[in-house]
Amino acid sequence: MASKRDYYEVLGVNKEATAQEIKKAYRKLAMKYHPDRNPGDKEAEEKFKEINEAYETLSDDTKRQNYDQFGPDGPAGFGGQGGYGNYSGGFEDMFGGGFGDIFSDIFGGGFTGGGNRPRRPQRGNDIRKDVSITFEEAAFGKSIKIKVQRNEECDVCHGTGAKQGTSKRTCDTCHGTGQVRSVQRTPFGNIASTRECSACHGTGEVIDSPCSNCHGTGSVRKSKTIEVDIPAGIDDGQMIKVSGQGEYGEKGAPRGDLYVAVTVKPHSIYTREGNDVYLEMPITFVQAALGDEIEVPTLDGKVKYTIPDGTQTGTVFRLKGKGITKLRSASRGDQYVKVVIEVPTNLNQKQKDILNEFAIECTGKSYEKKSSFGKKIENLFKKK
Ligand SMILES: [Zn+2]
Ligand SMILES: [Zn+2]
Repeated sequence: MASKRDYYEVLGVNKEATAQEIKKAYRKLAMKYHPDRNPGDKEAEEKFKEINEAYETLSDDTKRQNYDQFGPDGPAGFGGQGGYGNYSGGFEDMFGGGFGDIFSDIFGGGFTGGGNRPRRPQRGNDIRKDVSITFEEAAFGKSIKIKVQRNEECDVCHGTGAKQGTSKRTCDTCHGTGQVRSVQRTPFGNIASTRECSACHGTGEVIDSPCSNCHGTGSVRKSKTIEVDIPAGIDDGQMIKVSGQGEYGEKGAPRGDLYVAVTVKPHSIYTREGNDVYLEMPITFVQAALGDEIEVPTLDGKVKYTIPDGTQTGTVFRLKGKGITKLRSASRGDQYVKVVIEVPTNLNQKQKDILNEFAIECTGKSYEKKSSFGKKIENLFKKK
């Protein structure tokens, strides 16, 4: 697939642009490149599609966030055809009332049809699915199977909605244009307006004998299992876009997309920050005082680490490259291990005796912090 231009670039806005700025930029470009203003101009048509595709993503908070995070194709090369299909649905919806007026001025009304053509088939809706994965699955990625209930093309009529052996016919009311015109007399003169034909809902065609399997809708509800690759490095709260796995659209229009919202379950010992893994590890005060080789759990299994003698509680050491794989990259974060000294409890008499003996042996040299602190206190209360 040819690499796409950056959506922000397409609309000529910067990455921090507000929704308002994006809408404004889009509006300007859409008017300039609209096919009705550039009849037969292939380049303008392509440009128009590109603008719409960019706007479709950047005008939707969820899609924009996803795009900012993963780029145009979603993580790990998901993607395929991004749908720009929605623009055919109705500009009016996207802009509210005011915008329709601007277009009517330029194109003589009936923007929804772009002239006297029936409305284009509607793109299928997007589907959102929530999945919950483990800490390790997020770290290394996983292929999961997701069950969705979605509209599929009716396999009896193949999406036409007409009974087998019959077909649709041109709508009598609008003669296939999908629109009806009416002229209203006003003090300013006659004003012509165009409405969607109610007999055929703007499609220009009617079905006399609907398919009994789908009742003329062309699609039926089915349960589907979709395999989704969760990329290594995904984090809690992130979303994966799987293009073209949403609802079936009307015949001739693209499918919607599937959005997979990922929740990562908390781990029993690790926590995560970005691509780094944090671990708090209890050690005995003997290990801390004498030094020891300890076994540290990591995502790749146990590794040996030598803690030096005299290690203080709260000391943090780093295991390079033992963290989580960075999204769309081969490199990994690090693991940080904080050692916490556990003071022994439930001592028997013998243990207590040994410790007492040990305490007697200790001088200020063994407790540098404590003895320098003691000196400060002494100075503080010294008689003047
Ligand atoms: Zn059918
Ligand atoms: Zn009609």
